[in-house]
Amino acid sequence: MITANEIRRRFLEFFQSQGHEIVRSSSLVPKDDPSLLFTNAGMVQFKKIFLGQEKRGYVRATTSQKCLRVGGKHNDLENVGRTARHHTFFEMLGNFSFGDYFKEDAIKFAWKFLTEDLKLPKERLYATVFRDDDEARDLWLAHTDIPAERIYRMGEKDNFWSMGDTGPCGPCSEILIDQGEHMTCGPNCGIGKCDCDRYLEIWNLVFMQYDQAADGTRTALPKPSIDTGMGLERIAAVCQGVYSNFDTDLFQAIIQYTCGIAGVSYRANDETDTALRVIADHSRSMAFMITDGILPSNEGRGYVLRRLIRRAYRFGRLIGQTGTFLHKTAMKVVEVMGDDYPELRGNADFMARVVREEEERFNRTLDKGLALLEEELESLRGAGSTRVAGDVAFKLYDTYGFPLDIVNDIAEKRGFTVDEDGFRTLMAEQKERAKAAWKGSGESDIASRFHALLEEGLRSEFIGYDHLSGDSRVV
Ligand code: ATP
Ligand code: MG
Ligand code: MG
Ligand code: MG
Repeated sequence: MITANEIRRRFLEFFQSQGHEIVRSSSLVPKDDPSLLFTNAGMVQFKKIFLGQEKRGYVRATTSQKCLRVGGKHNDLENVGRTARHHTFFEMLGNFSFGDYFKEDAIKFAWKFLTEDLKLPKERLYATVFRDDDEARDLWLAHTDIPAERIYRMGEKDNFWSMGDTGPCGPCSEILIDQGEHMTCGPNCGIGKCDCDRYLEIWNLVFMQYDQAADGTRTALPKPSIDTGMGLERIAAVCQGVYSNFDTDLFQAIIQYTCGIAGVSYRANDETDTALRVIADHSRSMAFMITDGILPSNEGRGYVLRRLIRRAYRFGRLIGQTGTFLHKTAMKVVEVMGDDYPELRGNADFMARVVREEEERFNRTLDKGLALLEEELESLRGAGSTRVAGDVAFKLYDTYGFPLDIVNDIAEKRGFTVDEDGFRTLMAEQKERAKAAWKGSGESDIASRFHALLEEGLRSEFIGYDHLSGDSRVV
């Protein structure tokens, strides 16, 4: 079996042999780019080069990029566990041309790598092109073995790629693989018709041509360029002959380890499996986020991290975990991926400590909150209602530190919905009140002092935020 680590290496070496510079993954926190919450694709670190604002000593590059798709334009949190192909954190393999080669070579390279290097079965591969991009269609026909009937024209939603509301963008062409009849979702299954995992999208070739402004207008980039992205976890699943990313070696190492801690087994029970998948997915995200300098907090990136830790921690309850355990599963991530991402090793102890503190903090309120929610659902059921009121969700958030995701997870499982608008209104009101009350409290000074300390390299002596902020209340 070819391991994911081996695929990553082969990909980078393949493109290196085609004149590409191997460039290290950039941080999950985009540098100098307030337009983006997290790095969500390989092209993010090259944005300025595409825009012609920066030049480097190479015109071709290849990377394995750490990506996070939670919040912002590309948000897959809800898909995790629902599909077999989405994660919050994943690695995107990519090759880039900065005004050098364009569509033809991008298509030729992708085809060569998939069919000659990885030896994927040609007859199961499909291509998509953007609407009337006949040029791309002709190139697929001329340079690959994909016949006309396996080339699909797609609209803006699937085949016009942009990293966010602004920035470099362009039409794209994708490669999909038919995973087989047994994966079908029903009579309406098909490319462009459903969103199931049968026709698995593996690689996106973006023909970077425009810069999109905030008002939606697009101007031409200085030079047409190439940006491609292939999910390592997906191509690993395909090469390893499994139908879920969670069955690849990358995930099984973490899932089996978690099974060992919890004394459960994988594939014995759907609910346990979902919990194990969410825990593995979120463990990867938390390990990488903290390593890249994100810390649990009540806003922005830090709140996304807090949500992921708490959500995973709650799923731990479903596999019988009553104490802290995520700091161990996150450490397992370091073990599995530390060779390829050495930064994980450098910060491992600090990372585990941050996770553990967040677990402990949430542990203090989780059971009380769960009991309150249970009571609420019981009484709603008695009253014949299926809607959890916004103020209940808000109380769970405000008093018990429950991110809305957790309330949604539990409610949905029991056939309830949550009044999210009501929740958000209450949250906005509270923020307003807090803003007024905190004026001049020095909160932001403390945060910046804390980050300065981190940057000075005092990471290993970290003793917890409580000592710095003097307030562990979670809002
Ligand atoms: P999908 O349609 O399956 O959601 P996408 O079109 O949003 O994928 P792109 O933005 O084209 O994905 O990203 C390029 C590649 O990155 C995809 O072809 C896929 O292999 C991988 N990828 C995208 N999102 C995820 C994710 N959440 N988890 C794992 N891999 C992903
Ligand atoms: Mg997507
Ligand atoms: Mg897609
Ligand atoms: Mg895509």
